[in-house]
Amino acid sequence: MSAYKDLTEQKLSLEKELLGPYRLVVGLEIHMHVKTDHGMFCACSTEGVYDAPSNTHTCPVCLGLPGALPVPNEDAIKQTHRLGIAFHCELNKESRFDRKHYFYPDLPKGYQISQYLKPLCGEGYLDLPTGSRVELERIHLEEDTAKSFHEGGKTLIDFNKSGMPLIEMVTKPSIHSAWEAAEFGRQVREIVRYLGVSDADMEKGQMRVEPNISLQTAEMAKNGKLPDYKVEIKNINSFKFMEKAILYEIKRQREILESGEVPLQENRGYDEASGETVPQRSKEEAHDYRYFPEPDIPPMSFDGAYFEDLKKTVKRLPEETKKELIEEKGLSRQEADVLVSEDLVDLLYGVVDLGVVFDEAVNLLVNRPEYREFSAEEFAAKIKEQSNKIEDMAALETVVGEVLAENPQVVAEIESGKDSAKEYLLGQVMRKTKGKADPVIVRRLLTTRFQG
Ligand SMILES: [Zn+2]
Repeated sequence: MSAYKDLTEQKLSLEKELLGPYRLVVGLEIHMHVKTDHGMFCACSTEGVYDAPSNTHTCPVCLGLPGALPVPNEDAIKQTHRLGIAFHCELNKESRFDRKHYFYPDLPKGYQISQYLKPLCGEGYLDLPTGSRVELERIHLEEDTAKSFHEGGKTLIDFNKSGMPLIEMVTKPSIHSAWEAAEFGRQVREIVRYLGVSDADMEKGQMRVEPNISLQTAEMAKNGKLPDYKVEIKNINSFKFMEKAILYEIKRQREILESGEVPLQENRGYDEASGETVPQRSKEEAHDYRYFPEPDIPPMSFDGAYFEDLKKTVKRLPEETKKELIEEKGLSRQEADVLVSEDLVDLLYGVVDLGVVFDEAVNLLVNRPEYREFSAEEFAAKIKEQSNKIEDMAALETVVGEVLAENPQVVAEIESGKDSAKEYLLGQVMRKTKGKADPVIVRRLLTTRFQG
C-alpha cells in the first residue's frame, strides 16, 4: 500500500505544480464492447469478429437495409444492468432506445440506436484506492459504428464492428486529477473483466475512453460553478496516454487562460508521437442529433424481481475485496492483488473453512501457483497429507534417537571416523520400523546427527 501511496502523492504533487491556481475538472466517457454472442439488434455472431475478413459479420439489420427490424440483445441489457449494480447505480425500471441522427459513412442507417432520456442505469459511483469518489452520470447501451480506413485517397469501410453491443459509461465532471482519471479507467477495466461484462482489450478497440477537460478557478470551485467550455479528447486507447493527454491539456489551457482568453470548446485527438493534443473535425452539438424514441423497439420495463436475480450474479468489486483483505486481514497490497486478480478469494475462504490456517493458505496461493488449480477439498487434503508426513518425520527422529542410545560403541566408532558403521545403525532403524522408513531420509538424519 505504501508504494502505491507514494506514487499517488508524487503524481498529485506534480499535477498541482502544473495547475498553479487552477483546479482540473475531468469527466469521462468510456465505451466498452459487451461480451456476448451476437449483435446489439441483429443475429450476427460476435465470435472471431476482431480478426475476421472485412464485412463478413453483417446482415440486413446492421447494414441498415430497408425493412430490416432491430431486436434488442437481452444478454447485453443484462450485462449493462450488472455493471450498473457493481457501480451502485440507480436502476431505471423504465428505459428505452432512441435514434441519434448524424450523417457519417460509418453509420449506414444515418442514425445510431442509442439511449438518451431513459438510459438503463442512472447515477452511481466508484471509490478509488486513492480515496477519491468518482460519480457516474449514467450507463447506457447502444450499437457500435463501422470502422473506416483511409488508404491512397480512398476511404474503405469495414462493417463487422457495426451493430456490436456497446456500453457507454459517463461520469460526472467529478475527477480532479489526471492520475485519478487513469486510475478510474484501470478500475473500470478490471471490474468489467472480473464480472465478465467485457474483455475490454484496448488494443482491439474493445474499450475506448474520451476525457473532457477544463480548468476551474478557485472562485468557481468554491461556488460549484463549472467552466463554460470543455475540450474533449477523442478515442484514446490507453490509460497512460489519457493521463499524458490530460497533463498536456492542463499546460495548454492554463497558458490560454493566463493570456486572458478562454480555450475553444472543441474535440481534439492525442498524438502519441509528439505527446500533444491536436484539433479534430468538430462534431455537431448534442442538440443537433435530433434524438427521438426508436419506433421499431417498444419501451422496456423491468421489475424488482428481475433486478434482485441479477444482483445475485454480481460479485463484490475487486477493490472492495482487496480493501477488506488489506485492512481487516492484514495482507500486503501485492498479496491482495494476486488473490483478487487470479480470482482466488473464494478458494482462500473455502480452504480456511476446512481448517487450513489463513496465513498458510495465503502463502501457498500467492507463492505456489500449483495450489491454485486445486478445489478447496483437494487443497485441504494436500495440507493434511503434508502435516502427516511431518508427524512421520518426528516419529522417525525418535526411533533414530533410540537406536543411537542403544548402540553407544557404534556411535563412538563413527565419531572416531569409521563412517561405514552408520550402515549398521541404518539397519537397526529399518528393523525397528519394520522396513517402513525411507532409507534415504534415515541416512540424511544420521548424517546430520554426526555432522560437526
Ligand atoms: Zn448483423
